Amino acid sequence: MKICVLPGDGIGQEIVAQALRVLKKVGEKYGRTFETTEALIGGCAIDAEGVPLPADTIAKCKDADAVLLGAVGGPKWDTIDPAIRPEKGLLGIRKELGLFANLRPATLFKQLADACYLRPDIVAKGLDVMVVRELTGGIYFGEPRFDGEKDGERFGYNTMTYYEHEIRRIARVAFEAARKRSGRVCSVDKANVLDVSRVWREIVIDEHKNYQDVELSHMYVDNAAMQLVRDPSQFDVVVTGNLFGDILSDEAAAITGSIGMLPSASLGESNPGLYEPIHGSAPDIAGQDKANPLATILSVSMMLRHSFDMTEEADCIESAVEKTLEQGYRTGDIWQEGGKSVGCVEMTDAVLANM
Ligand code: ATP
Ligand code: MG
Repeated sequence: MKICVLPGDGIGQEIVAQALRVLKKVGEKYGRTFETTEALIGGCAIDAEGVPLPADTIAKCKDADAVLLGAVGGPKWDTIDPAIRPEKGLLGIRKELGLFANLRPATLFKQLADACYLRPDIVAKGLDVMVVRELTGGIYFGEPRFDGEKDGERFGYNTMTYYEHEIRRIARVAFEAARKRSGRVCSVDKANVLDVSRVWREIVIDEHKNYQDVELSHMYVDNAAMQLVRDPSQFDVVVTGNLFGDILSDEAAAITGSIGMLPSASLGESNPGLYEPIHGSAPDIAGQDKANPLATILSVSMMLRHSFDMTEEADCIESAVEKTLEQGYRTGDIWQEGGKSVGCVEMTDAVLANM
């Protein structure tokens, strides 16, 4: 298995280095060989090559079976030309790899239940939702778009568009993901108001004919936003378009209260999938061995599960993370009274020991 590693900026370097120790260990334990190659993306690529996504990085990613990314950006590059900002590197690689599906599990580890923003009786029911967001279509990319003037005043618009093939392929990702989980998909749209949403709903229903073992329900986005904080246990997989998914995936992650714990996957049709923590480059704590490596370590386990079908290996990492939390190890972002205060490296040492 070939993995292209893109540490990026800020805490990216530290957390990716630790996640690679876990990858090596799981390889040794199960007799798997992972070949890794590093490349530049984001601010460090701008410093070295003048662009956030060098051609060499694109080539190395396309040549790999999966990509592991840390984070990009930081105050150092906040004032440069918007056309070559670090974030452009991330958008660029998603586009190059055709990554149209973004999978974001929002999981509340029971050991961290105190951090959750929800009422204890709701937390007790569990919080384990997978948001599957369409990533390359919808209102962020739809044409026409306009920013100008009309009838003597400022005026602008964007267009929410979806083709049938775009809806079918994201629905398939959601149904497949549900099969590996509790077998339920809730499709979120605004079909009572938006024409594009009626197309969305109709196609999701049609694609569901191929997944009769999965339970499908539908919800309007305003209600879904409310139900997610009212009782997230009613959801397993949520599938939705780009805009609604952007908002709902942040909402779902935020209620867990653990930004340093959550991984993500971006998948395409046949190209390598890209795996990264949902948090950013955290410049305020970079280079201080304070970052929580668990989101990146869990991104590795998502990679093993989704790109390589290595279920046992992924389970091994996830149980080791749970055990480490059980033993009380805490970085600053998940600090609890009575915990064992550790840094990025020591947290990883504990995970390795628990594997
Ligand atoms: P971006 O625009 O890159 O998403 P951001 O400013 O939205 O960046 P983060 O970089 O994720 O957000 O940081 C938000 C806060 O969370 C910061 O105070 C940061 O230190 C903290 N944080 C983020 N990730 C971690 C982590 N892995 N471990 C500890 N703290 C973290
Ligand atoms: Mg952010």
